[in-house]
Parts: sequence; C-alpha cells; structure tokens
Amino acid sequence: VPVQRIRNFSIIAHIDHGKSTLADRLLQETGTVESRDMKEQFLDSMDIERERGITIKLQAARMNYTAQDGEEYILNLIDTPGHVDFSYEVSRSLAACEGALLVVDASQGVEAQTLANVYLALENDLEVIPVLNKIDLPGAEPDRVAGEIEEVIGLDCTEAIQASAKAGIGIDAILESIVKDVPPPQDNVDKPLRALVFDSYYDAYRGVVVYFRVMDGTVKTGDKVRFMASGKEYVLDEVGVLAPNQVKVDALHAGEVGYLSASIKAVEDARVGDTITLATKPAKEPFPGYVEATPMVFCGLFPTDADQFPDLREALDKLRLNDAALQYEPETSSAMGFGFRCGFLGLLHMEIVQERLEREYNLDLITTAPSVVYRVTTIKDEVVLVDNPAHLPDVQHREKMEEPYVKMEVITPETYVGTLMELCQQRRGAFIDMKYLTPGRTTLVYEMPLAEVVTDFFDQMKSRSRGYASMEYQLIGYRVNNLVKLDVMINGDPVDPLATIVHRDKAYGVGRALAEKLKELIPRHQFKIPIQAAIGAKVIASEHIPALRKDVLAKCYGGDISRKKKLLQKQAKGKKRMKSIGTVDVPQAAFMAVLKIG
Ligand code: GDP
Ligand code: MG
Repeated sequence: VPVQRIRNFSIIAHIDHGKSTLADRLLQETGTVESRDMKEQFLDSMDIERERGITIKLQAARMNYTAQDGEEYILNLIDTPGHVDFSYEVSRSLAACEGALLVVDASQGVEAQTLANVYLALENDLEVIPVLNKIDLPGAEPDRVAGEIEEVIGLDCTEAIQASAKAGIGIDAILESIVKDVPPPQDNVDKPLRALVFDSYYDAYRGVVVYFRVMDGTVKTGDKVRFMASGKEYVLDEVGVLAPNQVKVDALHAGEVGYLSASIKAVEDARVGDTITLATKPAKEPFPGYVEATPMVFCGLFPTDADQFPDLREALDKLRLNDAALQYEPETSSAMGFGFRCGFLGLLHMEIVQERLEREYNLDLITTAPSVVYRVTTIKDEVVLVDNPAHLPDVQHREKMEEPYVKMEVITPETYVGTLMELCQQRRGAFIDMKYLTPGRTTLVYEMPLAEVVTDFFDQMKSRSRGYASMEYQLIGYRVNNLVKLDVMINGDPVDPLATIVHRDKAYGVGRALAEKLKELIPRHQFKIPIQAAIGAKVIASEHIPALRKDVLAKCYGGDISRKKKLLQKQAKGKKRMKSIGTVDVPQAAFMAVLKIG
C-alpha cells in the first residue's frame, strides 16, 4: 500500500464519553469485525477492563476503508489507555499517530481527561478532529459543547462531527474525515529502520509480542533487530498486522503499524517508548522522549496464610513479565511475616495488580495502605528514598524531609466549587487558580501533596460533586514539609504496616481518628485489646476494644437454626482477608483505615 493511503489515528476522550463504543462501531462499519463476531467493546479485551468499563492496555486495529474518492485506504486505530496512571503510554501511542479523534459527550462537555489527552495530542503535533458524541440523548447540547471546546481548547469546531456511536449516527462522516483531515505518514522508507514501540504483552508460547509503528525504513521476518534503550538484540520470528487479529506478513514499511515476536523473555527488554532498529544497519538516534516508568505509589502485599508466600512470589514474577512498571522486593514485617513491598504507577495500577493476583492466581492477600516515596536528607547529608513509613529514619537522624507534590486540576459545575475548595484545603492544597471554562463550569487548580491524593481524594471529589466533577494531576516535584511518623500499637505491640507519615499539624487528629476507626474495624476477641497511636515515644490517642461477652455465643447455640447458620457464614467470610497479629485477628479493612479518615 502506498503511504499516501495510510492513516494512523487514536481516539481520545474522557472516561465514559464513548471511546470504546465508537471504536467498535468503526470496526463494524469497515467490516473489520463482522457484526455477529462483535463482542461489546472489542478493544477492551481484559476481563477487568470490561468489568470496570475502562481501557487499561492499549491495542491496535487495522481497517480497510473505501472512501468516497473511490480509493481504498488503510486506517490504523491505535487505542490509548484512558487513565492518568498510564499517561506515558498514552503519549507514546499518540506519538505513533498523525491524528486523533477527540470524542466529547455532547450531554456533558469538556472534562479533565479530555483536556489532559488533548494536550498530549497537541504536543505530539497531531491533527485533532472533534466529535460530539451521544447526540441521540435528549439532553445533548452539541452547540454548547462545541463552543466549550473552542473556548477551552481553542480548536475550531465549525465542522465538528455530530455523532452517536451507539445509534450509528455520523460514523461515515468520521471515516471520511480521518481520510481527508489526518495527514498520511511521511514517506521515510529509504531511511534506516526506526520503529516506535507503543505496547507489548507476554505470550507464553511466543514470548513478548511487541506492537509498533514503523517510522522509517522496513522491517522483515528474519531481521536481526536492536531495541535501542534496552540494547537487547533479537532475530524476528514473525511480523504482522492487526486486522484486528494478528495476521502474518512478510514486511512492514514506514507508516505502517504492526506486531512482532522474537522469543523475547520479558516486556522489560522491549518497553513502551523504545525504538527498534536493525542490528546490522542501526539508525543513529532513537526517538526522543523515552523514559522508564517510575513507581509513584508503594504498598505491602502479604499472604494471609504464610504458606502462600512462594505462590505470591511466582505470581508476581509472572505478572512482571507483562508489566514492566511493576516493581517488588521481599519485605519482612515483625507483625505480618513475609511479603513483598510493591511499587505502582498509581492507585489504579495498584488495584489492577491486586485484583489480578487474587483472581488469576487465587491468592488471599492483605494489602497495606499505599504510601508515596519520601525524600529524606540525613544529618550525614545522605539522601534516602523512603517508600515504606516503617523504614523512615528516626527524627534525630533526619536533617530534612521532602514529599512529592502534584498540580491538580478539577473541573466542576459552579455549584460545587465551595465544597471542592474546602476539600482541597483540607488536603493541604495551595490554591493556584480558578477559571470559568464556560458560564456555569469552573476549573480549579491546586498544588498539593501526592500523599493527600492517594488517600480517598477521588472518591471524596466524586461524592461532594454528585459525580459531576472530574480531575487530573501531574507530578511537579518535591517539597520540604514538617512530617512525622505515626505508629500504631495493637495489644501493646507496634504494627509496622499501620505506621503512616502525616503532617505534624494533622498528626493528633489523624491519630485519634485512626484509633477510633481501628476500634470499629477489628472484631471483638475473648480479651480486651488496647489500641494506641504514638509519635515517637509519645502516645497521642488510645482506645480499647472490649472483650466479647461470653454469653453472646452461648445464647446462639440451641437458638434458631437460621441465625446460627448466618453467624457461621459470617465467620467463614471473615476468615478470609484477616491477618493474625500476635493473638489479634486484624481484617483487611483495618489496613486501609488511614485512607478513610482524611
Ligand atoms: P469510554 O469510557 O470512553 O470507552 O466509553 P464507552 O464507549 O464505554 O461508553 C460509555 C457509556 O456510554 C456506555 O454505556 C455506552 O453504551 C454509552 N454510549 C457510548 N456512545 C453513546 C452514544 O452515542 N449515545 C448514547 N446514548 N450512549 C452512548
Ligand atoms: Mg472504554
């Protein structure tokens, strides 16, 4: 296919604005996937993705389309993940395209992720085509939303396409616009091979399968290639296209999108953002912008049953083959026994990994509260990165302590501005800016500690705004703060996974609330259990869980059967996700208690 008849594009959208539905519709309309083979949301192939209705992993699909000019075109759709945790992957998949469809729900309007994604697209010099989706809804206001896009993003919307991905309206107009408005790739076939990796996954039989866009030159089965960032070299077993299932071809040329396999052992060797070139005739420079994913959020993972530790290790090793951003190392805790300290890109990434470990590997795990990475300068002038509050150097060894900050943008209907500002202030946010997007809709900009965001900030924002506000944030660096470690003792023993780092001004409040919350969450035992929170040697809050009254159980026996059954069922359920610390059984929820007291 001549390069003039190739179009590479992405779809960008705020969550739920219809990206997946539109992708499905385009595949159907071009006959790439037969209607009868069509599972809803073809592109979201992982179970978790489908259940949560979010797109986590990007993939690609190649469509053949005969345009109104009578020519046949190849349209490569490169899907992007829709969440801030994966914004680096979004940016790399956009770098593989010349254009993007900007899908905005015409009954809602511009949201925080719309903006974040559109900026990434503009940074990558993409042609952006606005699509006003869901015009079938009675509440749709395409004209108002078009105005919003013009005002906020500065994108001309006079020819914005009005569409309904669900009802199949405007789909032809979208396909024509891709052909007309998205530029074809540059014809760089004579240059030395350079291909950009925008996704990869581990396959047990073929090794890592790499998705890439050829920017310069040609790649063929049998070529010996080099991944320029990792330096690894491989002979290609197979190259092919995604139609959308993998179809082998002999060669792929500049402008084309496809996959390769080469018995690569781990995705680490072929990471997103890396540049592939020929080992025998390498390009001079890789593409700019390659960065290794750095975990921002850490937590401890412990099997409830110590016997499952080897299984947990095996499961993590397997997941890691597929997830270069996942980090872990063994951790021993006096309270919890053997487990792992794991690092993630963000909270969603963390949840996905936890869920996969429990579901796909059948593990019963206790997860400790997430922590950010603190930067401590010791009195000996050494800089230590602390991702586990339990490992914070003692105060007399600390010269200075810094924590990561983010720039937070919240978009909300005007009515909720007050309550959301209050939330940001509570979370130690520093007010930066407030702008009206359009009459009635406001964007708030704050700088705040990441630690305050990884608690339940998102849930709070949603509930305070009845679901109408949206948010995006990006890391802006480290700042010095007056931080202290809060320890928790249960039954007199310090429980290191419950230790947490808080601002000194908040320490008393958090300590008291945490002790109360733990009292609520830890079940009664046969004996009285004291709970204390302390800063250093100083106890700042104490509570106790009273002993079970002996007659509670006695009464049940001989009582009515169904009640007894219920009690036993409750017990069986409670057994799961419960960790014995000394003689006290502590449920999973207790380890997350600190997140619920903001
Ligand atoms: P994504 O998160 O951007 O991928 O959004 P989805 O494609 O998953 O769509 C979110 C929800 O909006 C789903 O319930 C869709 O059925 C619905 N939806 C998508 N497009 C339309 C549309 O054009 N009209 C209506 N009424 N609903 C739509
Ligand atoms: Mg989706």
